[in-house]
Amino acid sequence: MDDKELYRQILGVVSPWEIEKIDLDMDNNRVDIYLQWPYKMEGICPECGKSCKIHDRREERIWRHLDTCQLRTFIHCKIPRVKCDEHKTKTMEVPWADDMSRFTRQFERIAIQFLQSSQNRKKTAQNLHLSWDEVNHIMEKAVKRGMSRRKDEPIKYIGMDEKSFLKGHNYITVMTDTEGKRILDVVQNRDTEAVDKIWGTLTEEQRGSVDAVSMDFWKAFINGAEKYVPEAAIVHDKFHIMKYMNEAVDKVRKAEHKALLEQNKKDLKGTKYLWLKAKENMTKENKKDFKALNINQLSVGRAWNRKELLRHLWDYYYEGSARKYFNKWYFSATHSRLKPVIKVAKMFKRHIENILTFIKYRITNAFAEGINSTIQHIKATARGFRNFKNYRTSILFYCGKLNLYP
Ligand SMILES: [Zn+2]
Repeated sequence: MDDKELYRQILGVVSPWEIEKIDLDMDNNRVDIYLQWPYKMEGICPECGKSCKIHDRREERIWRHLDTCQLRTFIHCKIPRVKCDEHKTKTMEVPWADDMSRFTRQFERIAIQFLQSSQNRKKTAQNLHLSWDEVNHIMEKAVKRGMSRRKDEPIKYIGMDEKSFLKGHNYITVMTDTEGKRILDVVQNRDTEAVDKIWGTLTEEQRGSVDAVSMDFWKAFINGAEKYVPEAAIVHDKFHIMKYMNEAVDKVRKAEHKALLEQNKKDLKGTKYLWLKAKENMTKENKKDFKALNINQLSVGRAWNRKELLRHLWDYYYEGSARKYFNKWYFSATHSRLKPVIKVAKMFKRHIENILTFIKYRITNAFAEGINSTIQHIKATARGFRNFKNYRTSILFYCGKLNLYP
């Protein structure tokens, strides 16, 4: 078997494309393969598939291919342009790559697979001998392809979330399909403009299909849902609510710990996370530590008690019972003489109608919260995100459930 035939089989060069020549450069571990469309043959119009006369050949282009025999492999070709009676002068399609790509399809496929399984850009770049920008380029193209393939299918439940981006007060708005467990899109900031922009990514029919939107108490998100999906219910996310409650417990603990220290009492030292844990998640050790504290004598014990009671609000299946339970809870919270607890209780009361919608729809922002660890991991292996575009690409690449392959 000669070299040409060998490479023809390795590369899967489809007839009538043929190998014109092969340049092996052993010193640089590199092989360059020149492909061509036979000169005697007519070309094919990319629009209608008809045979047409070859008009000319474009300047040579080079694609990076998968390594062959451990040599970095490049494909060269001067792609013919055909002259179609109907479609005028057109550049022919080549079977090994998409238009304007610097890589062959097979190469992009492997790079995408590698990125997905390793979740590590640096490793991918090293293993495939790619530059940082080349990895980004492949990811961007993959996301673009995936986004254009998305269908305008109905989406029942939407989640609206914010996440921090870079340092300081930079936020992004994240829209999720909570049932499909995928991120629909992300935009910069979390203001009215950002909310308009992200709702604009859905078609009118899709917006009409939304039954409920889960979110925090963030005003711009509430306004956005009322404006773009007025028929849909707003469901304030229980995890966000419990986070507010936990913050209140922690404030009480801090103040009490400080006051106790002034009397030289160290009872609350090192107990921060004990109070934030849900009762059923406590370890044996936790429970022992907990018993040692006289919780009925402590303000933080009273705050903790209100927190644990509040969690049961989401166990209800009837709105009437849930409302009754909340009212009882509200009374005990506002009579706790604990300022931070009273403050959050009043906030919950203001939003109670859209908290109780949970009983019917039972949706949360858990999915968006769950991807935080994925994002952290991507961040850690990607030298952070130098700009929003890269950040968005990464999030959609890993959490968009897109069809990324060429
Ligand atoms: Zn044509």
